[in-house]
Amino acid sequence: MANRKEKTFRFIIVGGGIAGVTCVEQLSSQIPSADVALITASPHIKTVTNYRQVSKTLEEFDVEEQPSSVLEEKFPNLTVIHSAVQSLHTRSHSLETTDGRVFGYEKLCICGGGRPKLLTQENPYVLGIRDTDSAQELQKRLSKAKRIVVVGNGGIALELVYEVEGCEVIWAVKDKAIGNTFFDAGAAQFLIPSLEADKPEKDAPCKRPRYTTEEPAPGGSHTFTADRNARRQGSSSTEAGSALGPDWHEGIVLQGSEQGTRRVSLEYQCEVEKIFTSEELLDSPPQTLGHENVGLASLHQTDQRATGVVPNTEPFLHGNNFALADDGGLQVDDHMMTSEPDVYAAGDVCTACWEHSPMWQQMRLWTQARQMGWYAGRCMAAHVLSEPIELDFCFELFSHITKFFNYKVVLLGKFNGQGLGSDHELLVRCTKGLEYVKVVLSGGRMMDLTPYGEELLNPNIDIEDYFD
Ligand code: FAD
Repeated sequence: MANRKEKTFRFIIVGGGIAGVTCVEQLSSQIPSADVALITASPHIKTVTNYRQVSKTLEEFDVEEQPSSVLEEKFPNLTVIHSAVQSLHTRSHSLETTDGRVFGYEKLCICGGGRPKLLTQENPYVLGIRDTDSAQELQKRLSKAKRIVVVGNGGIALELVYEVEGCEVIWAVKDKAIGNTFFDAGAAQFLIPSLEADKPEKDAPCKRPRYTTEEPAPGGSHTFTADRNARRQGSSSTEAGSALGPDWHEGIVLQGSEQGTRRVSLEYQCEVEKIFTSEELLDSPPQTLGHENVGLASLHQTDQRATGVVPNTEPFLHGNNFALADDGGLQVDDHMMTSEPDVYAAGDVCTACWEHSPMWQQMRLWTQARQMGWYAGRCMAAHVLSEPIELDFCFELFSHITKFFNYKVVLLGKFNGQGLGSDHELLVRCTKGLEYVKVVLSGGRMMDLTPYGEELLNPNIDIEDYFD
């Protein structure tokens, strides 16, 4: 294998999602002379735009799909290789891609993301949503559907049931309340009336372009078209695409075959046991949820530990000795290093196995993919430059900004009292239709503010901003 190496790079990053691209950007800016390769199975890359630091740990940004040439133009020492990694040989520091090429590395970062846990692979009516292709497939199938069943209780399910119109939605959640990955039953009650009300007028349409790939002309290269509504061609649906962005449904018409607005029925504490075909349905017991000749959309199933994705570790494991976490992720330490020498990992593919700060937990989200990719890049650079590096402040306090049912949602620390035991108290301020503010007191204190140190007095940091 070592002899077949086409080229050895100082750094190879696998994965063109937010973790991989941020890692590339960080490494290339810190060591501009280093040879860096980005190997990615998807034709586009994801980049962070409009980054806004809201407070010391709270950030907001948009994510854009771009052709990889944008990145290569910005960093002349970067080579983007469009292929999937098929196997990794950590002993010889090399990897092989599906098109038969072998590349050597000095340091490698795996940012292969995850894929949704599907209820079943075989049923043509079951669709998992992960990337642009699957979201467009949903649009296509939805246009003919009268009724869909949404299975899942994570962020995507929440957005989907709110956005779909012209189609009956049966929403099966296995918990006692909706959205329990993100909030408690009280907040769920606060949000539910939004499902029955008309949606507010949309803001001006998002002008952010989305790039589509066309089949390359014989002997030619990919052409990229900035057309946010165009269907993507030339990429097979089995290809491992990057996970979608926060505005994944923008530009996609989530309209069923009928007129009218939303009709959502909720089935609580409901787990899918079996999926029937139309024929089987005729003989099925009366309490079965029917889906007569309609699309059945299955989303990430969530459980207590995972947010519904299986880390994409498979191509990297054979013949190597990676320590895996219970959720299937590559275990990484506080320098984003896996158990294999010179191999780092970041984003959805990895599981943070250092001793967590009491106010932080891993959730497979954009914010953390960006933070991990950025920090992995810094660690890789520090290690080759023999510089010391400490765990970044962003891992001190969990923070995430999102939107559910058109409400801005800010989550900080152990926002659901995760792992706090019985010694905690909740203070809630709720104004129907306007705001839901919850504070978790642990041992009578709101949160440990030590990490803020002198920043607490920094006039640019306004604690109240968190609750705006
Ligand atoms: P990904 O973005 O999945 O990228 C993985 C990359 O690795 C891809 O480019 C893929 O092509 C490549 N790859 C995989 N295998 C190989 C291989 N063998 N060889 C080469 N390349 C490979 N998070 C939020 O914070 N807010 C949201 O609102 C939100 N909404 C979401 C909506 C949807 C529909 C989905 C699916 C996810 C959403 N998430 C959201 C989660 C978020 O998208 C992910 O946590 C984040 O994108 C993970 O980034 P990543 O770089 O680790 O992985």
